Amino acid sequence: MRSDREAEYVEPADPFCGRCTAMTEVTTAPSTFTVSMIGTSLLGWGSRCQECGSDGRVLWFIFGIPLIPLGRYRVISTGGREYYGRKRLAGRRVSALTAALQPVPDVPAEVRDEAYRRADELWLSGEPRDALRLFEEVRASHEASSAADDPAVMHLRLRVAQALLATHHRHAALALFEHVAAAAALRLGPNHPVSQWAADAAGRAADSWTSPKQLARLLAVQADPTAEIPTDQDVRAATHQIRLHASAARAHLRIGKIKQALWYVDNALGASYDLHGPGHPDTAVLRHTLHTVAEAASPQDKNLQDEIHACQQTWRPK
Ligand SMILES: [Zn+2]
Repeated sequence: MRSDREAEYVEPADPFCGRCTAMTEVTTAPSTFTVSMIGTSLLGWGSRCQECGSDGRVLWFIFGIPLIPLGRYRVISTGGREYYGRKRLAGRRVSALTAALQPVPDVPAEVRDEAYRRADELWLSGEPRDALRLFEEVRASHEASSAADDPAVMHLRLRVAQALLATHHRHAALALFEHVAAAAALRLGPNHPVSQWAADAAGRAADSWTSPKQLARLLAVQADPTAEIPTDQDVRAATHQIRLHASAARAHLRIGKIKQALWYVDNALGASYDLHGPGHPDTAVLRHTLHTVAEAASPQDKNLQDEIHACQQTWRPK
């Protein structure tokens, strides 16, 4: 039988914005085909998202005419007949990811200045791009004068991560959520509301947009564990790369690729030593990630244990 393929889905990568991700779930999207006016087809239904450009579509069973709706999707055409697709959640259900866009608990009094209030207003009125810019400014000014694990800095980093999530920068958002979750657990204890909120947001960001395997693959595209991270140029770019590496380490850890996880965290630690030094709280977070990798490694794997030991020796606190 000759099938006339209209659209072929590929694995969801990273093209959807936070809001569209929150309304949908990862799915093995169906390929559509019709033969002699019988089959399945995606037809228009909803509006185009201003942020990521995805369109609402309904998958129909076609029998001469669209006969039975099979599900609602958000799709982004990648040109030709290929699409990225995510299945719309039923009714008013929104995905777990939405929680990561909710208010961050425990706003420290010292961050509540004029700029913060303005950023928060922009955030609440649905202007995440402008909010991101302002939250970044406030964060940078606090980071210039406070420790990286100061509660005010951690709070502002979480606000930045939220705004990143809402504006299409999901890898950066995930990396930052994960980073603050670890930093907060080290500084405030794992049961503190901020630690729990950050860990929850990180977990939801990791789980709800793609499969663990695909996530590790996507992060691997952006972070190369064999090439040194340049730390003598743009500090922000280096910091971002370090966090991406740490995020890639955790993603590989989750799918049981301990050796690769070790390479990522090793590379991140090297750059963090150069950039911040061994005693910096951000370096301590990476050392903690290394510790997690070490705990997951099989004691029987002698080579891996040696590699881990060497890494722990090189990057021990001085
Ligand atoms: Zn969107």
